[in-house]
Amino acid sequence: MRYVSTRGGSVDRRFSEVLMEGLAPDGGLYVPAHYPTVDDAALQRWRGLPYAELAFEILALYIDDVPPDELRAIVATTYTPETFGSTQIVPLRELDESIALLNLSNGPTFAFKDMAMQLLGNLFEAELRRRGAELNILGATSGDTGSAAQYAMRGKQNVQVFMLSPLGRMSPFQQAQMFSLQDENIHNLVVEGSFDTCQDIVKAVSADLAFKRQYDIGTVNSINWARLLAQVVYYFSGYFQATNDNSERVSFCVPSGNFGNICAGHVARKMGLPIEKLVLATNENDVLDEFFKTGRYRVRSSGETMVTSSPSMDISKASNFERFIFDLLGRDAHRVADLFDVELSQRGQFCLTEQETACIARYGFVSGKSTHVDRLRTISHTWQRHRTMIDPHTADGVKVAREHHLPGTRTIVLETALPLKFEDIIREATGRDAPRPSAVAGLEERPRRCEVIAPSADAVMAYIARHCNA
Ligand SMILES: *Cc1c(COP(=O)(O)O)cnc(C)c1O
Repeated sequence: MRYVSTRGGSVDRRFSEVLMEGLAPDGGLYVPAHYPTVDDAALQRWRGLPYAELAFEILALYIDDVPPDELRAIVATTYTPETFGSTQIVPLRELDESIALLNLSNGPTFAFKDMAMQLLGNLFEAELRRRGAELNILGATSGDTGSAAQYAMRGKQNVQVFMLSPLGRMSPFQQAQMFSLQDENIHNLVVEGSFDTCQDIVKAVSADLAFKRQYDIGTVNSINWARLLAQVVYYFSGYFQATNDNSERVSFCVPSGNFGNICAGHVARKMGLPIEKLVLATNENDVLDEFFKTGRYRVRSSGETMVTSSPSMDISKASNFERFIFDLLGRDAHRVADLFDVELSQRGQFCLTEQETACIARYGFVSGKSTHVDRLRTISHTWQRHRTMIDPHTADGVKVAREHHLPGTRTIVLETALPLKFEDIIREATGRDAPRPSAVAGLEERPRRCEVIAPSADAVMAYIARHCNA
């Protein structure tokens, strides 16, 4: 499989290059040159496979520069019941006859990002070994991404993680989860400032190409194709668990931020998975709901971006969105470059033509929005009616899924985190604490390893230079 850029630059990459690279040189995102399709017979064969074997079948369609035996071994060590808490890896739980939850949050950090990041850690380690190279991962986090990256990379050979987080802005549980890691290769840098401050520092350091090259700086952000690819697998698994026969169709509802998770659903459908609708849920930060209703994509300023009770969806722009637009516009890279490189960067927004907007419905996407009040009500109802506790992001999904529900159809809502990560709203909605797995008993009391650092790129670069392997 070859990979191309959404902006049409003449690149021709294979998987392992795309894995390590991030953005394409022309500023676009990497996408496979085509989507391999699976027929009914293949679906039938895959239906009975354990998760790791299903993952291997799907990944092997997109990865042809890692020896198959090695890929199979990487996948088998990644998706184990020990790491993900059950033999199904992503068990499906029915709430009622119309809605089921796909449990994606039983990995080490209790958010769905573990599903991709655990694989990424193992793919990185193997590729670095092949190249005899080192990698220093620099990232900024407001919670889930940073911890998922750290738990995926801890103790890995030739990899160090430098993770910036805003002082005092993450939930107490999220802070404890990251700062209690004692591994030598994990560095928590706490910045006096907001998440945007952290992200600006990462951008400034990455823009210093000499520094970047000298210190082998890389990232693990959500535009990485390997992360998206890993997420395609659980759409297949969810579908197989929800149906008996490939003639059945189901919808998926996805709590969305950077459009990574739902984009994986789009890829699964392109491959031939019988998905009825992809339902996109946003919180008060409704950039994407606006787009799917009007065809207008208007990026928000950081001042316009609200701090909400489903914080992992508090986005001002959706960094994976360009992949979807590329497909929506019939893979017209000229038009994509025009929209993202010219219109968006000059005017902060773009509008699709009427004809282009009409394609959205043909693609089977619908959207909706959920607010703090909706979230509280949905968590409370789900607890009272089904004795199931859901986290605020999943609640946004359940709320929007119910709005779009049609009689006689079924919707799988992707559960994106466990409630224990967001204790305040859970207590407010249900009057009780979320259950806590024994692995994290007393987490807040454990010794912490983190360093407060001045909010400047220079300070961060000096820290990296002192601590990295290069
Ligand atoms: C990251 C995250 C999301 C958003 O996922 P995207 O892939 O960015 O759309 C939603 N919920 C939780 C809990 C998350 O951590």
